[in-house]
Amino acid sequence: MSNDYVNKFLDYIFFPKGLQRLYSIVILAAFIGLVYFFVYQTGGTKYVYSHTMYIPIILSTISFGVKGGVITGLVAGILLGPLMPLDTINNEMQKTFNWVYRLVIFLLVGVISGMMSNIFRINTKKVVKLLTHNQYSGLPNANILNKDILINNEDFSVNTKLVMTIIINNHENIIELISKSNYFKLVKEIYIRIGKILGNDVRIIHAENNKLWLCLFKEDIDFYINNILNTLNTTFYIDRIPLYVEFSMGIAGLNDGNDLIVAFKHADASAYNAQKLNLRYQIFESKHLIHKKNIELLGMFHKALNNDELEVYYQPKIDLRTNKPIGLEALLRWKVPSIGMISPMKIIPLVEETQLINPLTNWVLSQSLIQLHDLKECGIETTISVNISTKNLYYPNFFDEVVDLLNDHNVKEYSIEFEITESALMANPNASIDLLRNLKENRIMLSIDDYGTGYSSLSYLSQLPINIVKIDKYFINQMNKDLGVKHIVKSTIDLVHKLGMKVLAEGVEQLEHVNSLIEMGCDYAQGYYYAIPMNKTEIIEWYQKNK
Ligand code: C2E
Ligand code: CA
Ligand code: CA
Repeated sequence: MSNDYVNKFLDYIFFPKGLQRLYSIVILAAFIGLVYFFVYQTGGTKYVYSHTMYIPIILSTISFGVKGGVITGLVAGILLGPLMPLDTINNEMQKTFNWVYRLVIFLLVGVISGMMSNIFRINTKKVVKLLTHNQYSGLPNANILNKDILINNEDFSVNTKLVMTIIINNHENIIELISKSNYFKLVKEIYIRIGKILGNDVRIIHAENNKLWLCLFKEDIDFYINNILNTLNTTFYIDRIPLYVEFSMGIAGLNDGNDLIVAFKHADASAYNAQKLNLRYQIFESKHLIHKKNIELLGMFHKALNNDELEVYYQPKIDLRTNKPIGLEALLRWKVPSIGMISPMKIIPLVEETQLINPLTNWVLSQSLIQLHDLKECGIETTISVNISTKNLYYPNFFDEVVDLLNDHNVKEYSIEFEITESALMANPNASIDLLRNLKENRIMLSIDDYGTGYSSLSYLSQLPINIVKIDKYFINQMNKDLGVKHIVKSTIDLVHKLGMKVLAEGVEQLEHVNSLIEMGCDYAQGYYYAIPMNKTEIIEWYQKNK
């Protein structure tokens, strides 16, 4: 039997309701009648079979407590008393004391068993009430939706057509102002107000401290939104203190066979989206789930980073004059068995918003240092460039950790290069200058990545200790289609040279690109035309063939 059926059965026999009570009474009466018939057929109360009557007496107390025990005890006592002979063959009747004594015992058994059943049922109800209600507000909590701990409660999923999440955006400020216990009075007040206007069309759940969940029984979104907005738009008073309460709401349907929990997840996502966009409400669209998906992705990434499930690939950079590799760029690769390859463009921006970016950069750097060592073992001396983020630059220990890593691996000067996008540098130019100078003094070369996508001026960049400017692949891709772009590339190359730096062209895919770049005097190139990014063993083979 599945858990669901067991629960329903137990629910039925311990807490029968409405018609269920009637059925139970009929079954118990039939059982008692059967025992009476059985005792009569087996020769009367002279024999041991009258003890069978204890079973329906005890059973009746399971559903009906002391009351049930007293009634069945009485009925059973009378049935097996004046209405039952001692011996059915010669119709000898029992002595009065004999059956009265039995009746009293039946009653006592009914009362004792009934009391135990009452205690059990009262305690069960108490536990269920504690589990399904918020400790502070006393309102139903999300457990009320859990069918496993539901006793005879309404199954909300039956009638619910829409669900709504209401978030109290400024709950922390309110708690600060009026204390936590008063805040829960406010939640209760909101609960009461919504209950008043929507009556039987709603069931309200206090899902989290600052979140209410509504099961809505009509399919009319406008009706609910208008009514709820009107109700919530008035000032609330708690202990005569007027409160400004700010809400964000999300609404989702139960179509597509969603269960309630899924529908509430959708409504939550929409409510958080509304909160982020400063809107009063949002009706669910699947794009609202992105935020949640990103959080999940970050969790998986954290695990992958800790378990060494990430990989670093390497793409060569080519000297356009000699056609030989001058270095490699380290590029992160993350393959999730259930999803496939996840692009760094997707995960790195998420990681950059968290402190995880520091261990990630350190990890890529240490992998690159190991790779440099492995390359050297194969007779290859080269440089590896590692992409770093703005957040790394401002992390107080970043610089020390880098120096420690370099010392640990005992690498040759300038075999590690950092690539920093121009927008990262421009975010805080003064702090960047100090840091970059420090890095350079510590034997690390620097490149500007994605040049042309930000708004920095090259003369400004020349104040920074930079060796290479990498022109973004967009310009390389467009330069032979658009003469204007070609001019930009050409003037960038000239200016970079004037400022004493080198130029690398990114995203070189065709021979045509190579020819134009050589003609314009570009120093280096990187792109699929030469090589795609390769894993740590492939890149060693490639380097040996092409060095
Ligand atoms: P990026 O630093 O500009 O890296 C170059 C990107 O262009 C790489 O994409 C590379 O695979 C791709 N690419 C190389 N040659 C060609 C080509 O000929 N045509 C085209 N269309 N693309 C080419 P990938 O590996 O997907 O990386 C994307 C971005 O993710 C990188 O752009 C970088 O900003 C970031 N990233 C990758 N690995 C790391 C890392 O370890 N740390 C940090 N902070 N960012 C990283
Ligand atoms: Ca790069
Ligand atoms: Ca780039």
